[in-house]
Amino acid sequence: MTTVAFIGLGNMGGGMAANLAKKGFTVRAFDLMPEHLTQAEKDGCVAFKSAQEAVKQCDAVVSMLPNGSIVESVYIDKDKLFDAMPKNTLVLDCSTVAPQNSQRLANVGREKGMRVVDAPVSGGVAAAAAGTLAFMCGGTQADVDAARDILAAMGSNIFRAGDSGAGQVAKICNNMLLAIHMAGTAEALQLGVDNGLDPKVLSEIMLKSSGCNWSLEKYNPYPGVLENSAASRGYTGGFMVDLMLKDLGLAMQASLASASSIPMGAAARNLFSLHKHSGGEDKGKMDFSSIQQLYK
Ligand code: NAD
Repeated sequence: MTTVAFIGLGNMGGGMAANLAKKGFTVRAFDLMPEHLTQAEKDGCVAFKSAQEAVKQCDAVVSMLPNGSIVESVYIDKDKLFDAMPKNTLVLDCSTVAPQNSQRLANVGREKGMRVVDAPVSGGVAAAAAGTLAFMCGGTQADVDAARDILAAMGSNIFRAGDSGAGQVAKICNNMLLAIHMAGTAEALQLGVDNGLDPKVLSEIMLKSSGCNWSLEKYNPYPGVLENSAASRGYTGGFMVDLMLKDLGLAMQASLASASSIPMGAAARNLFSLHKHSGGEDKGKMDFSSIQQLYK
């Protein structure tokens, strides 16, 4: 039986670790927050008091952490997990970080005898709980193939984008496009409403027309159009504005590194930043479809 150490049991990691345990993996879990460890135990994982203890005996490590500096600090600079895990451990970092963070992780990990894959995800909290995430992997073909059984327990689509860091590049491109079509969808819906249309009727029309897109169909930002959307429950839960801003920041960094023009991505980043600070309160914790409010 494969033993997986899981580091970072937050909104995403909690559901992912639970799915691994459900599918028969032995899961050795660690998070800084005790309440997340208590929940992990209820979900069939074994809780440890430190990350070093958790990775001591394992075949693979999966991490789902907030950002690149935390990921580097956990594996390399502070907790030094690469020095605490058995040689040849397969390390799957599923956090969204800069490609450079993933490349450093892979280089240092390989020097220490580990196999390292960046495997950021698309799908959000509901897909993490349901085990239907999409994984975008960066690493050698052999290491990505070795990761498939573990990733398949948490997701339904597994892609290899290329070598180390390539998974992050794919994730950054995807989320930049998501931000653009979410903002565009909110803009079009508000224009229709301001000119007398019912947002439900307008959505139905655009869904069968050339404006159809994922944000309109699955994540409609106008309250009341979709029964189970974040918009219909006051923009709570889902994917936070702050996380979208983090991903758009990564897109800006990537564009600087490659001298690429991203005028739409830059506009989207500015819109989400304006939205976060609009109305005299920090809207960073709201679901990102609340960008609709900026157009009202
Ligand atoms: P979260 O803040 O809910 O969870 C992160 C967890 O990491 C927390 O439980 C925190 O206590 C733990 N943590 C932080 N530092 C730690 C350390 N040094 N050692 C151990 N645990 C530590 O965040 P999340 O929403 O689960 O997101 C995690 C990652 O997934 C991020 O990189 C995010 O960009 C990405 N992501 C999130 C979503 C989403 O919808 N939330 C979707 C796709 C990707």
